[in-house]
Amino acid sequence: MLRKSSAKGTAELRRQNRDAILQALWSNGPLSRTDLSDITGLSPASITNIVDQLLGEHLLLESGEVKSHVGRKPILLDLNRQNIMSIAIDVTAPNEATVALINLHYEPLRTVEIEIEEYQISSLLEKIMVAVHGFMRDAHKHCVVGVGITVPEDLDISKAKMLFSTSLSSERIEFAEALRYQYRIPVRMERKVNGMALAELDTGVCKELNSFLYLNLAKTVDASLVLQRKVVLQGFTGDIGHIEVASQGVACRCGRRGCLDTLVGGWAIMHRVLADKLLELADKADPLLLLSTHVSVDDVVQQARCGDELAQHICEDAVSALRKALDAVLALLQVEGVVLGSDAYRLWPRALSELLQGKSLRKPVEVLSGGLASSALLGAAGFAFRTWIGEK
Ligand SMILES: [Zn+2]
Repeated sequence: MLRKSSAKGTAELRRQNRDAILQALWSNGPLSRTDLSDITGLSPASITNIVDQLLGEHLLLESGEVKSHVGRKPILLDLNRQNIMSIAIDVTAPNEATVALINLHYEPLRTVEIEIEEYQISSLLEKIMVAVHGFMRDAHKHCVVGVGITVPEDLDISKAKMLFSTSLSSERIEFAEALRYQYRIPVRMERKVNGMALAELDTGVCKELNSFLYLNLAKTVDASLVLQRKVVLQGFTGDIGHIEVASQGVACRCGRRGCLDTLVGGWAIMHRVLADKLLELADKADPLLLLSTHVSVDDVVQQARCGDELAQHICEDAVSALRKALDAVLALLQVEGVVLGSDAYRLWPRALSELLQGKSLRKPVEVLSGGLASSALLGAAGFAFRTWIGEK
């Protein structure tokens, strides 16, 4: 018994030491073995031992040499970014998902778009599993270190079960559990907006920022908070869309009035445009004309630029609502910037960030627009990598 627990303790210690080396290279690589020893506090012998193992697993590369005043030229070590992969899954709707194999340069090597006809989450998960299986089968040359999944705020798939078959039996189990069982790798599931923020941090406009507030301006507005280069996962709900910004405002889906969502969220804006069209068409004979009216928030941005009055009002109302909400939230936070992004619209976050730069916020923070395509997918990969290096 004693032996068993001490073996477990040794394995745990070894894993911690390995994580410490991976984390040092993640944040500060490339590094020499001496640098690694200085940063992690591990003995040179331990470093050599673990590094040799990581080199053997093709997770590290020896790269270049640095000149040293004592004449020796230590070889630098770095993560093998080309070879280290994660499987990223971005669930976009109960019947839609994107699955990709992404390396540590954040380059998607293969991508599969999945769309099914039925709104049946278990069927979607089974299709995703097939795609993951295909990637794992073909990725044998590389090291797949984990799976990351991002899900929309209004869709909880953590308890969703799927049919999982082994050679012995067939049963319904949770998706993440099925992945862990099948591939013996860590699986991490996070909210979509957190994935989007993480992608901007690791590979987008926030590479130089340590702390920022990220807003996903989609059908509704959600926020993610990054402090000291980590996404805050506990104690921050991101529910910025229901901050009151207009006391006598429009009714919100939460039952109250004047929420940020009613002035910046895509649903509310489409509603406002259609209501205006309805008035316009009231005199005309054919109400079916309304049904053929397709409005996107990006169209509103373009119409505003062309001088359309309603569109300009919508943009002005949105930006002053956003300023109010941000002034309230930023009063409680110490961040360097605010990033506006969107997984639904291309022009909307850019237009609002430009307008917001002109209207000074109470706190002088940088306002940026996040322009990464597929940022939730890249963020899913980012979470998988961070779980792999043992980052909490
Ligand atoms: Zn609300």
